[in-house]
Amino acid sequence: MSIFSLPLDIPDIEIINVEHDQHQFIITVKSTLTQTQCRKCGKVMTKRHGEDKPIVLRHLPIFDQSVSLKIHPVRDQCVDCKNDPTTTQKRPWYSPRRPSTLAYEEYLLRPLINSPVTDMYHKERVGDETIEGIVDRHVDTQVNWDSFTRLECLGIDEMALKKGHQDFVVIVSAKVGEHLPILTVLKDRKKATVKAFLKSIPPALAATIESYCCDMYDGYINAAKEVFGHRVKIVIDRFHVAKHYRSGLDSLRKREMKRLK
Ligand SMILES: [Zn+2]
Repeated sequence: MSIFSLPLDIPDIEIINVEHDQHQFIITVKSTLTQTQCRKCGKVMTKRHGEDKPIVLRHLPIFDQSVSLKIHPVRDQCVDCKNDPTTTQKRPWYSPRRPSTLAYEEYLLRPLINSPVTDMYHKERVGDETIEGIVDRHVDTQVNWDSFTRLECLGIDEMALKKGHQDFVVIVSAKVGEHLPILTVLKDRKKATVKAFLKSIPPALAATIESYCCDMYDGYINAAKEVFGHRVKIVIDRFHVAKHYRSGLDSLRKREMKRLK
């Protein structure tokens, strides 16, 4: 058997064990970070209190097989605070109450960029509700602008939510080289909402935006024109044009059918 290894690409963890059965990998990992900040005083704690119950997080698949990471979050104790409170170590690549790593959530959201919601979710064995839950949790999240040096292309895609109170949410992504990071999800498709987001981009980063890709909806186009002026090229993307073209043909077909009857 030919074997190769690949890096897990998550900082400050060590792989303890890898199990493989029923087409899924369960990778047990351990944090190698030894210091946690106290949630009360903010000081770095040095006394290990113990480990919390393990959590299992769905992570990026490998070779069409699902992957879960099992981690025992460590809990440290503050000797400076009254009653020696304990704090569980937090890591930026997951949230304790979510079932997946942030990388996996982004992986699920990425097909929503420039494409309709596809059957991919069935293949991933997650339902529309899971996707909607993930989208919901990304609404109005603060973008960590420090992690970007350029943005190149901004993408605006809307997604209809079947459940909940909002009709449409807007997924804002960037294209930086081959990377398609999701920046945030906007709560609605109003021009004012899109415009407020575009204005929140730090000026130095906004200056690196070359194009802005959206569908033909006026609100998206005008928001960009009002914030970027003529500097940024507005691209009506292929998928959206195709969809429009199809629906145009479809209504023409229906009109013709009616007329012929
Ligand atoms: Zn403390």
